[in-house]
Amino acid sequence: MAKLEIHLFPCLDDNYGVLVHDAETGMTASIDAPDADDVREALAEKGWKLTHILTTHHHHDHTGGNAELKAETASTIIGPKGEAAKIPGLDKAVGEGDTFQFGGREVQVLETPGHTLGHITYYIPSENVAFAGDTLFALGCGRVFEGTPEMMHASLQKLAALPGATTVYCGHEYTAANAKFALTIEPENEELQARMKVIERLRASGKPTVPTTIGAELATNPFLRAHIPAIQQRLSMKGAPDWQVFAEIRERKNRG
Ligand code: ZN
Ligand code: FE
Repeated sequence: MAKLEIHLFPCLDDNYGVLVHDAETGMTASIDAPDADDVREALAEKGWKLTHILTTHHHHDHTGGNAELKAETASTIIGPKGEAAKIPGLDKAVGEGDTFQFGGREVQVLETPGHTLGHITYYIPSENVAFAGDTLFALGCGRVFEGTPEMMHASLQKLAALPGATTVYCGHEYTAANAKFALTIEPENEELQARMKVIERLRASGKPTVPTTIGAELATNPFLRAHIPAIQQRLSMKGAPDWQVFAEIRERKNRG
Protein backbone atom coordinates (compact mmCIF):
# COMPACT_ATOMS: atom_id res chain seq x y z
CA MET A 1 0.00 0.00 0.00
CA ALA A 2 1.46 3.38 -1.00
CA LYS A 3 1.70 6.04 1.70
CA LEU A 4 -1.10 8.54 2.05
CA GLU A 5 -0.21 11.81 0.36
CA ILE A 6 -0.41 14.82 2.63
CA HIS A 7 -0.62 18.39 1.38
CA LEU A 8 -0.24 21.28 3.83
CA PHE A 9 -1.25 24.81 2.82
CA PRO A 10 -1.64 28.16 4.59
CA CYS A 11 -5.20 29.42 5.17
CA LEU A 12 -6.70 32.63 6.52
CA ASP A 13 -4.10 34.56 8.60
CA ASP A 14 -2.04 31.85 10.26
CA ASN A 15 -4.09 28.65 9.97
CA TYR A 16 -3.01 25.55 8.13
CA GLY A 17 -5.22 23.46 5.94
CA VAL A 18 -4.22 19.84 5.36
CA LEU A 19 -5.42 17.49 2.64
CA VAL A 20 -4.90 13.75 3.03
CA HIS A 21 -5.20 11.69 -0.13
CA ASP A 22 -5.25 7.98 -0.84
CA ALA A 23 -4.27 7.44 -4.47
CA GLU A 24 -5.68 3.91 -4.58
CA THR A 25 -9.26 4.73 -3.60
CA GLY A 26 -9.19 8.41 -4.64
CA MET A 27 -10.42 9.43 -1.20
CA THR A 28 -9.40 12.87 0.02
CA ALA A 29 -9.93 14.25 3.50
CA SER A 30 -9.55 17.84 4.54
CA ILE A 31 -8.35 18.11 8.13
CA ASP A 32 -10.61 20.92 9.30
CA ALA A 33 -11.87 23.42 6.73
CA PRO A 34 -10.70 26.87 7.76
CA ASP A 35 -11.95 28.49 4.58
CA ALA A 36 -13.88 27.03 1.62
CA ASP A 37 -11.96 29.03 -1.03
CA ASP A 38 -8.55 28.03 0.32
CA VAL A 39 -9.49 24.34 0.54
CA ARG A 40 -11.06 24.43 -2.94
CA GLU A 41 -7.93 26.00 -4.37
CA ALA A 42 -5.68 23.38 -2.75
CA LEU A 43 -7.91 20.58 -4.09
CA ALA A 44 -7.74 22.04 -7.59
CA GLU A 45 -3.98 22.39 -7.40
CA LYS A 46 -3.60 18.72 -6.49
CA GLY A 47 -6.40 17.50 -8.75
CA TRP A 48 -8.10 15.75 -5.82
CA LYS A 49 -11.81 15.40 -5.11
CA LEU A 50 -12.96 15.99 -1.55
CA THR A 51 -14.69 13.03 0.12
CA HIS A 52 -14.28 13.76 3.84
CA ILE A 53 -13.82 16.59 6.29
CA LEU A 54 -12.29 15.61 9.64
CA THR A 55 -13.08 18.33 12.15
CA THR A 56 -10.92 18.71 15.27
CA HIS A 57 -13.02 21.33 17.09
CA HIS A 58 -15.80 23.84 16.63
CA HIS A 59 -13.90 27.12 16.26
CA HIS A 60 -14.82 29.02 13.14
CA ASP A 61 -11.27 29.07 11.80
CA HIS A 62 -11.51 25.25 11.65
CA THR A 63 -15.11 24.81 10.47
CA GLY A 64 -15.80 27.94 8.41
CA GLY A 65 -15.64 25.98 5.13
CA ASN A 66 -17.75 22.99 6.20
CA ALA A 67 -21.14 24.04 4.89
CA GLU A 68 -20.00 25.30 1.49
CA LEU A 69 -17.65 22.39 0.81
CA LYS A 70 -20.25 19.84 1.84
CA ALA A 71 -22.85 21.42 -0.42
CA GLU A 72 -20.46 21.25 -3.37
CA THR A 73 -18.90 17.83 -2.84
CA ALA A 74 -21.35 15.86 -0.67
CA SER A 75 -18.38 15.04 1.55
CA THR A 76 -18.86 13.20 4.82
CA ILE A 77 -18.09 15.36 7.83
CA ILE A 78 -16.69 13.59 10.87
CA GLY A 79 -16.22 15.54 14.09
CA PRO A 80 -16.14 15.58 17.87
CA LYS A 81 -19.04 14.04 19.75
CA GLY A 82 -18.46 16.46 22.63
CA GLU A 83 -19.37 19.50 20.53
CA ALA A 84 -21.49 17.87 17.83
CA ALA A 85 -24.14 20.61 17.91
CA LYS A 86 -21.51 23.22 17.04
CA ILE A 87 -20.02 21.48 13.98
CA PRO A 88 -21.70 22.63 10.75
CA GLY A 89 -22.83 19.74 8.54
CA LEU A 90 -21.68 17.00 10.93
CA ASP A 91 -22.54 13.50 9.66
CA LYS A 92 -20.70 11.31 12.14
CA ALA A 93 -19.82 12.20 15.73
CA VAL A 94 -16.79 10.43 17.21
CA GLY A 95 -15.10 10.27 20.60
CA GLU A 96 -12.34 8.58 22.57
CA GLY A 97 -11.48 5.12 21.33
CA ASP A 98 -13.62 5.33 18.21
CA THR A 99 -12.03 4.21 14.97
CA PHE A 100 -13.05 4.50 11.35
CA GLN A 101 -11.59 3.61 7.99
CA PHE A 102 -10.09 6.09 5.57
CA GLY A 103 -8.50 4.79 2.38
CA GLY A 104 -8.08 1.37 3.93
CA ARG A 105 -6.35 2.72 7.03
CA GLU A 106 -7.64 2.76 10.55
CA VAL A 107 -8.04 6.25 11.96
CA GLN A 108 -8.12 6.41 15.76
CA VAL A 109 -9.86 9.18 17.66
CA LEU A 110 -8.21 10.63 20.77
CA GLU A 111 -10.12 13.09 22.91
CA THR A 112 -7.79 15.99 23.68
CA PRO A 113 -9.94 18.56 25.51
CA GLY A 114 -8.76 21.84 27.00
CA HIS A 115 -8.64 24.34 24.12
CA THR A 116 -12.29 23.40 23.64
CA LEU A 117 -14.16 20.80 25.68
CA GLY A 118 -14.78 18.39 22.81
CA HIS A 119 -11.51 18.80 20.90
CA ILE A 120 -10.29 15.59 19.24
CA THR A 121 -7.07 14.46 17.55
CA TYR A 122 -7.04 12.06 14.60
CA TYR A 123 -4.27 9.46 14.72
CA ILE A 124 -3.39 7.04 11.92
CA PRO A 125 -0.96 4.53 13.45
CA SER A 126 -0.14 2.73 10.19
CA GLU A 127 1.05 6.05 8.70
CA ASN A 128 2.68 7.37 11.86
CA VAL A 129 0.74 10.60 11.64
CA ALA A 130 -1.53 12.61 13.91
CA PHE A 131 -3.65 15.70 13.26
CA ALA A 132 -3.74 17.63 16.50
CA GLY A 133 -5.72 20.78 15.60
CA ASP A 134 -5.24 23.42 18.28
CA THR A 135 -4.11 21.08 21.07
CA LEU A 136 -0.41 20.67 20.31
CA PHE A 137 1.51 23.23 18.28
CA ALA A 138 5.16 23.14 17.25
CA LEU A 139 6.85 24.36 20.46
CA GLY A 140 3.51 25.37 21.90
CA CYS A 141 -0.03 24.38 22.72
CA GLY A 142 -3.47 25.86 22.26
CA ARG A 143 -4.90 28.38 24.68
CA VAL A 144 -7.03 26.82 27.37
CA PHE A 145 -10.35 28.44 26.43
CA GLU A 146 -12.99 25.97 27.63
CA GLY A 147 -11.22 23.42 29.79
CA THR A 148 -8.87 23.58 32.75
CA PRO A 149 -5.07 23.56 32.74
CA GLU A 150 -5.15 20.10 34.33
CA MET A 151 -7.33 18.83 31.51
CA MET A 152 -5.11 20.38 28.84
CA HIS A 153 -2.02 18.93 30.48
CA ALA A 154 -3.58 15.44 30.40
CA SER A 155 -4.47 15.88 26.72
CA LEU A 156 -0.91 16.90 25.87
CA GLN A 157 0.44 13.94 27.84
CA LYS A 158 -1.79 11.67 25.77
CA LEU A 159 -0.16 13.01 22.61
CA ALA A 160 3.30 12.86 24.20
CA ALA A 161 2.77 9.13 24.72
CA LEU A 162 2.47 8.48 20.96
CA PRO A 163 5.60 7.03 19.32
CA GLY A 164 8.38 9.61 18.99
CA ALA A 165 8.49 9.15 15.22
CA THR A 166 4.85 10.25 14.88
CA THR A 167 4.49 13.19 12.51
CA VAL A 168 2.15 15.84 13.91
CA TYR A 169 0.21 18.35 11.88
CA CYS A 170 -1.16 21.30 13.82
CA GLY A 171 -3.69 24.01 13.10
CA HIS A 172 -1.53 27.13 13.10
CA GLU A 173 1.87 28.57 12.23
CA TYR A 174 2.82 30.03 15.61
CA THR A 175 6.23 28.42 15.85
CA ALA A 176 8.54 31.46 15.75
CA ALA A 177 6.72 33.18 18.62
CA ASN A 178 6.49 29.88 20.48
CA ALA A 179 10.24 29.31 20.10
CA LYS A 180 11.03 32.75 21.51
CA PHE A 181 8.85 32.01 24.51
CA ALA A 182 10.23 28.48 24.95
CA LEU A 183 13.73 29.92 25.27
CA THR A 184 12.60 32.06 28.22
CA ILE A 185 11.51 28.87 30.01
CA GLU A 186 14.51 26.76 29.07
CA PRO A 187 17.36 28.95 27.80
CA GLU A 188 19.98 26.22 28.29
CA ASN A 189 18.23 23.56 26.20
CA GLU A 190 20.68 23.01 23.33
CA GLU A 191 18.20 21.18 21.14
CA LEU A 192 15.84 24.10 21.54
CA GLN A 193 18.58 26.58 20.64
CA ALA A 194 19.38 24.57 17.51
CA ARG A 195 15.71 24.30 16.61
CA MET A 196 15.31 28.08 16.95
CA LYS A 197 17.91 28.53 14.21
CA VAL A 198 16.13 26.11 11.90
CA ILE A 199 12.81 27.88 12.53
CA GLU A 200 14.30 31.31 11.82
CA ARG A 201 15.73 30.02 8.55
CA LEU A 202 12.44 28.42 7.49
CA ARG A 203 10.35 31.49 8.32
CA ALA A 204 12.81 33.86 6.66
CA SER A 205 12.24 31.96 3.42
CA GLY A 206 8.48 31.79 3.95
CA LYS A 207 8.43 28.05 4.57
CA PRO A 208 6.20 26.25 7.09
CA THR A 209 7.64 24.83 10.32
CA VAL A 210 4.80 22.31 10.42
CA PRO A 211 4.61 19.31 10.58
CA THR A 212 6.66 18.44 13.61
CA THR A 213 7.22 15.12 15.40
CA ILE A 214 6.40 13.93 18.90
CA GLY A 215 10.11 13.28 19.43
CA ALA A 216 11.08 16.87 18.55
CA GLU A 217 8.34 18.26 20.79
CA LEU A 218 9.33 16.04 23.73
CA ALA A 219 12.86 17.42 23.49
CA THR A 220 12.01 21.10 23.08
CA ASN A 221 8.36 22.02 23.76
CA PRO A 222 8.08 23.46 27.31
CA PHE A 223 4.40 22.50 27.49
CA LEU A 224 5.42 18.82 27.30
CA ARG A 225 8.31 19.28 29.71
CA ALA A 226 6.71 20.32 33.00
CA HIS A 227 8.43 17.32 34.65
CA ILE A 228 11.96 18.50 33.74
CA PRO A 229 13.84 19.56 36.90
CA ALA A 230 15.63 22.50 35.21
CA ILE A 231 12.25 23.97 34.22
CA GLN A 232 10.73 23.42 37.67
CA GLN A 233 13.77 25.10 39.16
CA ARG A 234 13.55 28.13 36.88
CA LEU A 235 9.89 28.55 37.82
CA SER A 236 10.65 28.02 41.53
CA MET A 237 8.24 25.06 41.44
CA LYS A 238 10.49 22.14 42.34
CA GLY A 239 8.43 19.07 43.13
CA ALA A 240 5.09 20.68 42.20
CA PRO A 241 2.61 18.47 40.31
CA ASP A 242 3.37 18.50 36.60
CA TRP A 243 0.00 19.97 35.69
CA GLN A 244 0.61 22.95 37.98
CA VAL A 245 3.98 23.57 36.37
CA PHE A 246 2.24 23.33 33.01
CA ALA A 247 -0.40 25.81 34.20
CA GLU A 248 2.32 28.29 35.20
CA ILE A 249 4.03 27.96 31.81
CA ARG A 250 0.69 28.51 30.06
CA GLU A 251 0.00 31.54 32.27
CA ARG A 252 3.35 33.07 31.39
CA LYS A 253 2.77 32.51 27.70
CA ASN A 254 -0.66 34.18 27.97
CA ARG A 255 0.94 37.21 29.60
CA GLY A 256 3.83 37.31 27.12
ZN1 ZN B 1 -9.20 26.83 17.95
FE1 FE C 1 -7.52 27.71 15.57
